[in-house]
Amino acid sequence: MKTMRLSRKWVRIYLTLLAVGIAVFVVGALMPHQGIMYGGVGIAAVGAAVAWFKCRCPYCGVPLARYVRWGSGKARFCPGCENEILYDDFKDRGKIG
Ligand SMILES: [Zn+2]
Repeated sequence: MKTMRLSRKWVRIYLTLLAVGIAVFVVGALMPHQGIMYGGVGIAAVGAAVAWFKCRCPYCGVPLARYVRWGSGKARFCPGCENEILYDDFKDRGKIG
């Protein structure tokens, strides 16, 4: 069976949207006109949608939004099926870590 991997690209898109959304939300909350806050919520929601559709365990389909990470590092395991979470750029892992 082919080893299936998560796309690092989508993980990074998700994490970026989430971080930007939270930043906009915090800035918006400090502004006198708080409409900008809702823009932050919207950006974070798009990020959450990306995570929901694109950052799932390739084996069992559990959403891995809380388990994915930006770069390589210590192995993490799917909470659903306990397979190691592998990324499509995993070649940069192992040699260094
Ligand atoms: Zn799984």
